Amino acid sequence: MLTETPPQKTILVVDDAVSNIDMLLVILKDYDVIPVTSGEEALSLLDEEIVDMILLDIMMPVMDGFEVCLNLKANDATKEIPVIFITARNDVESIEKAYDVGGVDYVTKPFRPRELLARVKTHLHLREVIHRLDYLATHDSLTGLYNRRKFFELAQQLYNAKRDDVFAVMIDIDHFKRINDRHGHHSGDLVLKAITKSIRDLLPADSIFGRVGGEEFAALINAYNLDEVKQLIEKIRITVSELIISIRGGANLSCTISSGVAQTGEDITSLDDLLKKADDALYEAKGSGRNRSVFRQRD
Ligand SMILES: [Mg+2]
Repeated sequence: MLTETPPQKTILVVDDAVSNIDMLLVILKDYDVIPVTSGEEALSLLDEEIVDMILLDIMMPVMDGFEVCLNLKANDATKEIPVIFITARNDVESIEKAYDVGGVDYVTKPFRPRELLARVKTHLHLREVIHRLDYLATHDSLTGLYNRRKFFELAQQLYNAKRDDVFAVMIDIDHFKRINDRHGHHSGDLVLKAITKSIRDLLPADSIFGRVGGEEFAALINAYNLDEVKQLIEKIRITVSELIISIRGGANLSCTISSGVAQTGEDITSLDDLLKKADDALYEAKGSGRNRSVFRQRD
């Protein structure tokens, strides 16, 4: 069986001494290394490139390593990148300052290659574990959507930023319990995956979409008018109803969804209000026959 090789990690090396850079290129030969010789260069490169780790010299002209690190930690796009300081200094003040400004580790010159490599590996591994845990803590493992907690967190941010132009959508799969009862939970899971994937593909990329209950989903959409949203929700409803989902044993299933949509307005003073209004609309959609959407516009 072919196993996929993980993508090579990229390490940015910042040092004003070319001889140090040369040595690091040899030691880090198994990584994709980007060398630069000043802090300014490092910061401008990071505007465009994504790197997994930074090895940062302290003593450099114009901008020293501490200042570079403070800049990195003040920027949302770069603050999570682990920084290992590499320096000839080994006084207590420098070491303490390296951690104070946000470094994760500290290596002194001259390099001990195996020690340096071990530290690099450890911090790359830690970073991967943190990413993995963060993903698990914020996503629904079956559908890959945001989980309830993360949905509310991100929806609140979008609501705060775009209060007048957001629409809340509550979506529920019709008669989902019947699918689980008749065909088993494995089939139910396939249905959840297929439906959420097709909804996600149709939602605008900046929407917040999450699984908020067993077969209940919520989306917060940033859009300018109700007609646009009506068309989108109708398209989603029809697309889902036309899905043919293959389950175990060669059978095919089809399902429908019901949605409730609410628009922000003067009667809405919070995200909770808005979602409640969408939920009431969903309840109405269910009550009036399912496979339909009910819209609550501005009062
Ligand atoms: Mg230097």
